[in-house]
Amino acid sequence: MKILVINAGSSSLKYQLMDPETKEVFAKGLCERIGIDGRLTHKVPAKDAKYEFEIPMPTHAEAIQAVLDALLSAEHGVIKSASEIDAVGHRVVHGGEKFASSVRITDDVMAAIDECIPLAPLHNPANITGIKACEKVMPGVPMVAVFDTAFHQTMPAKSYIYALPYEYYENDKVRRYGFHGTSHRYVSARAAAMLGKPIEELKIITCHLGNGSSVAAVDCGKSVDTSMGFTPLAGVPMGTRSGDLDAGILEYLMNKHGYDMKEMMNILNKKSGVLGISGVSSDFRDIENAANDGNQRAALALEAFQYSVKKLVGAYAAAMGGVDAIVFTAGVGENDANTRMNIASGLEFMGVKMDAAANNVRGKETVISAADSKVKVLLIPTDEELMIAQDTAAIVKG
Ligand code: AMP
Repeated sequence: MKILVINAGSSSLKYQLMDPETKEVFAKGLCERIGIDGRLTHKVPAKDAKYEFEIPMPTHAEAIQAVLDALLSAEHGVIKSASEIDAVGHRVVHGGEKFASSVRITDDVMAAIDECIPLAPLHNPANITGIKACEKVMPGVPMVAVFDTAFHQTMPAKSYIYALPYEYYENDKVRRYGFHGTSHRYVSARAAAMLGKPIEELKIITCHLGNGSSVAAVDCGKSVDTSMGFTPLAGVPMGTRSGDLDAGILEYLMNKHGYDMKEMMNILNKKSGVLGISGVSSDFRDIENAANDGNQRAALALEAFQYSVKKLVGAYAAAMGGVDAIVFTAGVGENDANTRMNIASGLEFMGVKMDAAANNVRGKETVISAADSKVKVLLIPTDEELMIAQDTAAIVKG
């Protein structure tokens, strides 16, 4: 089976054509600068080849057409006919309370994704545009929506409710939703497979640490708590996002500096996190280099990030009444041995014992805790595209 996975952003679109059973990736790439001019980077892993094109992309429809043309090209294509694409799986950021799992896209589903726009005003419109563009360019091909929020819909009310007047939940849908759900679901399932135990018997804490970061408590295969909230701004400090803070700070800074809400949100989303603390960069590699060169604020940014994740690990172990495995994934979690070590060390009191040599790896599925560690610590590269392709195949097959 060949599934095309689409992740549409406001001016970009990532794609991957893959077989969800063999996990072979036939081609993948990225359309950028949609609505500005248009650039396509197309990769064919089997040939270890990368191609770059300047293609006018006034809208997502031209971007999808460019992807299809690249997949069909005699020179750098990987299929002979568009009919070889069995289905398309779309990443959709927000499914609100309407979607607890992936679904086949119908008119009703499109309407429901549209209704969730106020919850994700930047992301859902781009996802809808991507779906409509695919329908236009590939009419009749089955489409599936895979939601970032869906996995966390199993959270109990005590985890998702904010201590605000209840009508803001009832009338305005203000609650914790959580994000990165596809990644947390994928790595927790892989963790169970690596440990050779049914996921229904495991308590797992998954740490998705990248430019955006979130931690989740996965009890018996179900998300029971997660650090991102109503929006992806909540939780641990991120590349440029503040993570959790005292809401009173907003009023104080807005009054003191005369910011309006848009300026304040821009500071919280784009100028905060490890970038804000360090003043160096949002990229963890740059911050680590600066810290190694003696930059105190860079060192503080890393410390604050690691401490914040460590606290959640403790909190989620308490929430679940124990933990069997801690998983690290995403850009930082997969590549940064120091960060993993600093988060997971000092937790011997709860049965976590790291193995420094085993932890000295990057980007491969492996156990990084000591052989006698009661709690297993795992490094698991995430694969949201594979999860989307597998969901899509399962739904299309019925
Ligand atoms: P993601 O959002 O999952 O793509 O992760 C991006 C983040 O991973 C960036 O902040 C990168 O600096 C970070 N990252 C990638 N490789 C490394 C590495 N070797 N060491 C530290 N951070 C890394």
